Amino acid sequence: MKDGRFVDLHVHSAFSDGVLSPSELVALAAQVGLHAIALTDHDTVEGIDDALAAAAVHGVEVVPGVELSVAHNGQEVHLLGYFIQHHHPPLREALQRFHAARFFRAEKIVAQLNRAGVPLAMEDVLAVAGDRPIGRPHVAQALRQKGFVQTFEEAFDRYLKRGAAAHVSKERWPPRLAIDVIHAAGGLAVVAHPLYSIALSALEGLVAQGIDGIEVIHPLHSEEEREDLKAFALRHRLYCTGGSDYHGPGRSPHELGAVRAPLKWLERMRR
Ligand code: AMP
Ligand code: FE
Ligand code: FE
Ligand code: ZN
Repeated sequence: MKDGRFVDLHVHSAFSDGVLSPSELVALAAQVGLHAIALTDHDTVEGIDDALAAAAVHGVEVVPGVELSVAHNGQEVHLLGYFIQHHHPPLREALQRFHAARFFRAEKIVAQLNRAGVPLAMEDVLAVAGDRPIGRPHVAQALRQKGFVQTFEEAFDRYLKRGAAAHVSKERWPPRLAIDVIHAAGGLAVVAHPLYSIALSALEGLVAQGIDGIEVIHPLHSEEEREDLKAFALRHRLYCTGGSDYHGPGRSPHELGAVRAPLKWLERMRR
């Protein structure tokens, strides 16, 4: 029996580096006919209460989530946490530590920009980021607003991408800690866009550390890669998830609802 309902389990709000507020995302999800979305902001759960409140109004289910950056064999891998108790104190404390690390990293990025002859100030970055976890997108926007670059993309190309003059690595979670924190908060740990970060063969190491699932459907995965990932999930008894990694209009190559996963995948995880 085919259920025609769909979910998007990878969505970013303005509480991290997305454009829309949690309630705007939920309203948009209702409009495009999604049954559920998971709010998976980078390093923060601050948007979840707003999303849950909007969910009740719009008749869209919201799964509390988060996206954490971990270091696996020297490579950055993103982990998604699903069904987390987002007020769980140990989770909050761990997020707070990484939040602080992002602040210090932003200071380093600004210092490197200054050294490269770009007089951006930390205040300019903070004017954009507010009290959100600071990411390169906020620096990119500050560079554009101050007229040091013409476009957001130019900021990454000239200064912020890996190998560029003001690139500074982000502090990353040890995988074990991230998985434990997600589990302790009652959640499931899922590797985001695995093929974007690591080879299938390197996934085994993460599975051994207690991963519960992998993101099979993602805009960066081809149809063939999705089939490979599905087979991998089946072999290792992992949950399959999927989402669009939507960051908002003009910040994502596709609209919300264009990349989606079957509702039954979410139902399996719920059990
Ligand atoms: P951060 O976590 O601070 O390293 O920033 C990572 C975020 O920057 C990603 O989630 C993307 O939203 C964005 N990003 C990374 N590379 C680029 C790029 N080349 N162009 C535009 N946005 C990018
Ligand atoms: Fe992002
Ligand atoms: Fe990611
Ligand atoms: Zn993401």
